[in-house]
Amino acid sequence: MLELAPYAAHAASTRGRQHQEASLKGRSEYQRDRDRIIHSTGFRRLEYKTQVFVNHEGDLFRTRLTHSLEVAQIGRSVARQLHLDEDLTEAIALAHDLGHTPFGHAGQDALNACMKPYGGFEHNLQSLRVVDHLEQRYGGFDGLNLTFETREGILKHCSRRNALLLGDVGERFLKRQRPGLEAQLANLADEIAYNNHDVDDGLRSGLITLEQLADIGIFKRHMQAALREFPKITGRRLVHETVRRMISTLVNDLTRQSAANIRGHAPASVDDVRQAPPLIGFSARILREQQVLKQFLHVRLYQHYRVARMSSKARRIVSELFNALIAEPKLLPPEFQSRAESDRPRAIADYVAGMTDRYAMLEHRRLFAVEAI
Ligand code: MG
Repeated sequence: MLELAPYAAHAASTRGRQHQEASLKGRSEYQRDRDRIIHSTGFRRLEYKTQVFVNHEGDLFRTRLTHSLEVAQIGRSVARQLHLDEDLTEAIALAHDLGHTPFGHAGQDALNACMKPYGGFEHNLQSLRVVDHLEQRYGGFDGLNLTFETREGILKHCSRRNALLLGDVGERFLKRQRPGLEAQLANLADEIAYNNHDVDDGLRSGLITLEQLADIGIFKRHMQAALREFPKITGRRLVHETVRRMISTLVNDLTRQSAANIRGHAPASVDDVRQAPPLIGFSARILREQQVLKQFLHVRLYQHYRVARMSSKARRIVSELFNALIAEPKLLPPEFQSRAESDRPRAIADYVAGMTDRYAMLEHRRLFAVEAI
């Protein structure tokens, strides 16, 4: 195993867990966090939660689960090169979307709108809530009892009001500090993963075309490189040869630029990292190119009428579920009924957010279709 840099998170000097647990021989604290996340219920739910395309739209589109695995893969590659802790990067990557509602951003927007009078709903905060409170697996505590560093990485952004309520992981938002480099990295690995797989899934779905993408600098450059090497390839093979080159370019750029930033600031510890500006980042050129690609995806894919149609249905399902349950909490499963006694809106938000796409559709039918049982 590579030696960790002094500015990496060192598992032996973690700020620890909320509930004291004896350390284990042969498994570091961050490995243990990663393993707990993989064995959690929330992690298995990711398989049936939408990234962009709803599960029943096709078997080959990314789901939240395969997305999270791609984020972990990209994160680990860069972590290894920068001598950061791979296990911590992986743990954050695998947990970063645990709080997502069914139906991707449409679901989150609908739930947030329903929860507006009760403190709102934010998937990022919900991911932390899943690992801190909602998982029920251990005899001595609720949640997964993860280390501070993994929890800090999961909480990517946070309002001042919530930061005050959250205690330790909220502090950096009040002090305007950065999280450790593993957290910064997991965040950008997320961006590399979704931009590229949305291009791939978008093409697969036929909602965007190679002709349209040929106008987008970063895609065009890598497609030309692929065709120089393999002049005869077309279709899926050309898409993959292009996308894999884009991912390599982004990963290499992120590694190179971050290494330069780290050299420039020479942090001697994680504490120095927290005081410094963000050190994990892309070069200015790649950042600009990525912006153009994101803008393209935004207009051509995320706002495509067929995606919009599904999003509209998704918003309706989520808000109708929420409204039915808040009016009649006796429709909740018993476990959530008892939680609803102390905070009805939050218990319902937790219940709805935890649903997979297909569970939400089924529950919606059960509540609204007269013939369903
Ligand atoms: Mg993500």
